[in-house]
Amino acid sequence: MRLGVDLGGSKIEIIALDDAGEVLLRERVATPHGDYQATVRAVAGLVEAAEQRVGARGTVGVGIPGAESRASGLIKNANSTCLIGQPLKRDLEALLRREVRIANDANCFALSEAVDGAGAGVQVVFGVILGTGVGGGIVVDGKVLTGANAIAGEWGHNRLPPDPCATAGFAQPAGFDSAEQCSAKPCLRPEGGGDSVSPLRGSSILAVPALGRPGGGNPAAEPTCYCGRQGCIELYLSGPGLAADHRRSVGRHAGADFQAIDIAARAAAGDAACDATLQRYEARLARALAQVINILDPNVIILGGGLSNIDRLYQNVPRLWSAHVFSDQVATALVKHRHGDSSGVRGAAWLWP
Ligand SMILES: [Zn+2]
Repeated sequence: MRLGVDLGGSKIEIIALDDAGEVLLRERVATPHGDYQATVRAVAGLVEAAEQRVGARGTVGVGIPGAESRASGLIKNANSTCLIGQPLKRDLEALLRREVRIANDANCFALSEAVDGAGAGVQVVFGVILGTGVGGGIVVDGKVLTGANAIAGEWGHNRLPPDPCATAGFAQPAGFDSAEQCSAKPCLRPEGGGDSVSPLRGSSILAVPALGRPGGGNPAAEPTCYCGRQGCIELYLSGPGLAADHRRSVGRHAGADFQAIDIAARAAAGDAACDATLQRYEARLARALAQVINILDPNVIILGGGLSNIDRLYQNVPRLWSAHVFSDQVATALVKHRHGDSSGVRGAAWLWP
């Protein structure tokens, strides 16, 4: 039996899978808020209760919103901050008297989808979480690629690649930021535009200082991330990031308080401002994923998290990313998850072969 635990900020969930991957049991409890010792005891308690109910002992894998430092074995990069700096693996192993495997929750998502989900049988899977935050995980030949720093796939705190037109220094109307608009019309930007634009080209329009802002638009509006960097992908492609972008674009007009889910619903119903926000979102997602494709060249990119339910992404984003990928054709597929909210626990269980 395999036991998988998804240790989230608000809930801890456990699943028990038999050898065939069938679900034997599933339970969840609230995460003890801000209390590390209580959190460790809650995880161990769920494991012991599950084993009692099933009547068998299992392997234990745990997915966490963070990573285990290769250097210290302590938890880092966790948005559930009470985990940071704690020896979670050691503490769980002491309580459960066995080896415990711990992995980043986005890695668990990618693994779950690679084993028997939307990426089953595929060689290279990039799993993306577009939710409260933005994470990513890589699975190659059915195995999680953890990486030298335990951050493989963590693309959410890269800087969002700039819109080519904004970088070339063209003044843009508010909210204009679409590679689609660039490729759909004859684009005015110089060949090889971007940071290397030469003032010798002499066009008066180049007198506008190059903005180089990832989101395009007003430099003052560029948001700062909790990680201390500016212009992180997560600031634009997370649910709160989408809502904030909409707020910036509508200003004090109606809709400034819309959440991501409202914006998607209203765009589908024909609201022009919400549709424009989603177009910017799609262009940004396309640029960000094109960089992943150029480096990792995955067979499939699988979207999870709340924003993965926006169906138009699966048509529009691949149409937009081609312009940024260094290839004649782009064979990479963009698909929706199969296991949804269950991917965290399922992937944690699959950390054991
Ligand atoms: Zn960041």
